[in-house]
Amino acid sequence: MKGEENMRALRLYGPGDIRLVEVPIPEIGEDEILLRTKAASVCGTDIRMWQNGYRGVDEEHPLTLGHEFAGVIERVGAKVPFYQPGMHIALQPNIGCGICDRCVAGNQHLCDDYKAFGINMDGAFAEYVRIPAAAIAHGNLMVLAEHVPFDQASVAEPFSCVYNGFSKCFVKPGDYAMVVGAGPIGLMHAMLLKLAGATVMMNDLSEERLAICRDLLPGVLTYRGDDLKGYVMEQTRGRGLDVAITANPVPQVQSAMLDMMNYGGRINFFGGVPESKQPVPINTNLIHYKELYLTGSTRSSIAQFRKTLNFVEQNLISLAGIVTDRYPLADVLTAFDNAKSARGLKHTIVFD
Ligand SMILES: [Zn+2]
Ligand SMILES: [Zn+2]
Repeated sequence: MKGEENMRALRLYGPGDIRLVEVPIPEIGEDEILLRTKAASVCGTDIRMWQNGYRGVDEEHPLTLGHEFAGVIERVGAKVPFYQPGMHIALQPNIGCGICDRCVAGNQHLCDDYKAFGINMDGAFAEYVRIPAAAIAHGNLMVLAEHVPFDQASVAEPFSCVYNGFSKCFVKPGDYAMVVGAGPIGLMHAMLLKLAGATVMMNDLSEERLAICRDLLPGVLTYRGDDLKGYVMEQTRGRGLDVAITANPVPQVQSAMLDMMNYGGRINFFGGVPESKQPVPINTNLIHYKELYLTGSTRSSIAQFRKTLNFVEQNLISLAGIVTDRYPLADVLTAFDNAKSARGLKHTIVFD
């Protein structure tokens, strides 16, 4: 394969301006890898970048989007250890600097200097992706067992973020857990909570989304109404929740959860709230008298990313139902339109 060959890529040129264009297949250095993309999923971040543009991205400096992806190694630089052409690979897209305290502690996703595929370097809505040396050296690549489908591997990134939030809630069998927000993220939270042995309740404004949850996760309780606390107290026989996850951007939900918690309950504010709606009022006496743990989480570490793919590899969890819509790269603009209108769950580009 030579540098003059072309590939198709979905590039961002500015606010509201994405185009499927022909670009040269990336050249790789001797410490880099060329990955042939097999699946890449659309994320809310992609939609926001499309709508709002992104700093540094303009007509002269377009960016290939796509940070949730998996593929097959096409070519390996002469100095790259271990990796071989043909290996199935999933990627944790956040590449830390590797030398700060947070990176050394394994939290490269909290690095001040992190770079990410599809955010500030070319991503995976393209037939090929160049994998830089730092990603290889830091362990961002994970070799997939061949029975793990690429489309499921492409949603391992959001799933690993969910696992990060889940890990902070010390879930035990028999816990009562509530997930507010029944999008793909809320659903993945429910999957993990169920795997951990919790009784899982879900709340959303959309009956359509709750129906999808009941379909994919038999046994999960769903509630749509205006007395969430009454529902929780009824289901838990007055005890309250042991675990609550807010998988939505609504400040009132964050405030309201504290009052529904059992003593020693753990809350994870998974979804961020728009800065314009801060500060969110919280009754800190509820934390004090009920000895609550209030946690937050953002992105995920490489270790968490690998762990979540192990769940799929071990058939403990299937992410098949999360990918509701599949498209060839030629239809990527339709995929973006559908993802924007929040139809279905995950919209995924599959390559042949
Ligand atoms: Zn994402
Ligand atoms: Zn760092």
